[in-house]
Amino acid sequence: MSEAPQLRMHTYDAHLADLVFDYMRERLQLDPVPLDHPGERAKLEAALSGLLGEQGHDPAQVLSVYAEQLAPAVISCDSPRFLSFIPAAPTKAALLFDMVVSCASLQGISWLEAAGAIAAENQVLRLIADLAGLPAGAGGCFVTGGSAGNLSALVVARDTARLRLGLGAYDRVRIAVSDQAHSSVGNTLRIIGVEAFVVPTADHRFTGADLRAALTHDTDDAPVIGVVATAGTTNAGIVDDLAGLGEVARDFDLWYHVDGAYGGAGLFAPSVRAKYAGIELADSFVIDPHKWLFAPFDCAAVLYRQPRLAKAVHTQDASYLDVIHTDTPEEWNPTDYAYHLTRRARGLPLWFSLAVHGTDAYRDAIEGALSTARQAADLIRRNPDLELVREPELSVVLFRRKGWEPADYHAWSRRLLAGQVAFVTPTGWEGETVARFAFLHPETTAAMVGEILATV
Ligand SMILES: *Cc1c(COP(=O)(O)O)cnc(C)c1O
Repeated sequence: MSEAPQLRMHTYDAHLADLVFDYMRERLQLDPVPLDHPGERAKLEAALSGLLGEQGHDPAQVLSVYAEQLAPAVISCDSPRFLSFIPAAPTKAALLFDMVVSCASLQGISWLEAAGAIAAENQVLRLIADLAGLPAGAGGCFVTGGSAGNLSALVVARDTARLRLGLGAYDRVRIAVSDQAHSSVGNTLRIIGVEAFVVPTADHRFTGADLRAALTHDTDDAPVIGVVATAGTTNAGIVDDLAGLGEVARDFDLWYHVDGAYGGAGLFAPSVRAKYAGIELADSFVIDPHKWLFAPFDCAAVLYRQPRLAKAVHTQDASYLDVIHTDTPEEWNPTDYAYHLTRRARGLPLWFSLAVHGTDAYRDAIEGALSTARQAADLIRRNPDLELVREPELSVVLFRRKGWEPADYHAWSRRLLAGQVAFVTPTGWEGETVARFAFLHPETTAAMVGEILATV
């Protein structure tokens, strides 16, 4: 320990390693993972005060600030009682391998630099493409999340159409979406300067008939060049009419994008697989393993039917990058298939976990959440104070408490969290505030749901 601090930073320190590994061992063994609490800014700032300065601190002291002050102010999305938004439930194998990706500084930019990592990531992408029924030539890469996947894919949709139609960068183009499309799709369209052609739906499920009718009656001369279907809406778990939309996309020459960020995992589950018929028609498809495929953050896959179209749009041109583009047949540069350049090999934790556990375990875990959702729906149906808003299609359950005002739902949500019973936040449905459960953790039980429902 006599070296200068700037050298010590890169020297293995067994004490520091033990501190962190011991902490990780404990965190991985928490059973159950506590929900924890919202943070208070003043308290957090006081805990952090003075930590960053010219001189460093004892790592044990810094780690204890994290473990005792910061960590409890992060609601644990991997708790089986976290039922808000979209929860997380990474496998232990995936979490541990994430540490390998970090400790080995694994990047996955180009085949030249990282063939080993990219080959394994591509093995996972192939497995997902096969489940979706995409052709042998399909491929893509892992990005940070569904938002990044949607953005990357829709840029390809836009530029491919502009090229085909001979349009300039400032000519108006539109992409058809339903009003249930994820907020990231709206954001994407704003970012890429494409207008949303919002198609009304009869019952929140976007169908081929809806799209065909809207296109037939459309009088705006800005071309509609693509359509976004959602395979599992985030708010209600609705799978759009993928076959019908795919057919209309083909008839009208539209780029067909399927956003399966949350619900794509249902492809693994025989009990719901039929709902995804038509997904094989997609030109691009996004799925978030950090949601329902039990991978750690941040991990999403974007797949293209014809990756060469994505490559034509996303390849970055810089003289120092010329060496990674040799155009040998085996070369696969993930950086060519999304808007990123530097990227961590974030598909590897999923690859490791899939290889260790096998896809049957994934199928059963996903079926488990679907079955918890069905049981929750039964409990709600049998409770005279409650009303199911609609039958759950996947693992999201919407329900109302008769007689409740929005404030009642919010107060209930706060009570549940304060008592560490569950993290359940209300949502909006047709202008009404309702309660919402999102299941995906295999350890969320019907008994827990019963316990939560007993508090309404
Ligand atoms: C979560 C979600 C997204 C956004 O994904 P992030 O990983 O949060 O960026 C997009 N679409 C759908 C349907 C989602 O559920």
